[in-house]
Amino acid sequence: MKLIFATHNLNKVEEVNQLLPKSISLLSLNDIGCHKEIKETGKTFKENAKIKADFIRYKYGLDCFADDSGLEIEALDGAPGIYSARYAGPNKNMEANIEKVWEELKEINNTRAWFHTVFYVHFSGKEYELSGSVEGSIILEKRGNKGFGYDPIFVPKGYKKTFAELGDNVKNKIGHRAIASQSLIRILTYL
Ligand code: IMP
Repeated sequence: MKLIFATHNLNKVEEVNQLLPKSISLLSLNDIGCHKEIKETGKTFKENAKIKADFIRYKYGLDCFADDSGLEIEALDGAPGIYSARYAGPNKNMEANIEKVWEELKEINNTRAWFHTVFYVHFSGKEYELSGSVEGSIILEKRGNKGFGYDPIFVPKGYKKTFAELGDNVKNKIGHRAIASQSLIRILTYL
């Protein structure tokens, strides 16, 4: 079975692909020749995920899903949230995004945060909204070189290392996309 993951982010595709049964062939936007950046104009993770999934469903007529995910920091009222990729500006510079988070947390003791994701799925004529979260805390230095985005500054609850140090083995068990992927697998395999 072919399923399109409506993203250009190959880190995400690789992460989810490791979790899905081998019978499901996961294709990225690049794999189907879609090089367009689908604008995330929604105000919530769900709206953004739906915009991307709907675009692929209606343009290509294929079963697909899209995710919208990001980092929510308690002391910043949930920021950067849906703006995680472009927190410091539209050019999506991750160094600058992390610097901005550090700057805003400088005087604050509360470093509690979550990664959150919403998957919007079109499968077999039906639509589903799935979600996953992982709690942790933000550290004021970068550690590790695995993963992507905010992984080097995020220490998941119950661990001493960052996601960028822990790598896929741990992220595939407790990560936000791993949790949403478990629900996705149930939909794909039990219908
Ligand atoms: P989007 O879902 O592609 O819009 O991504 C939002 C942004 O959230 C990414 O560019 C990352 O900065 C951040 N993000 C989402 N998931 C993760 C993750 O698993 N690790 C680190 N950063 C993430």
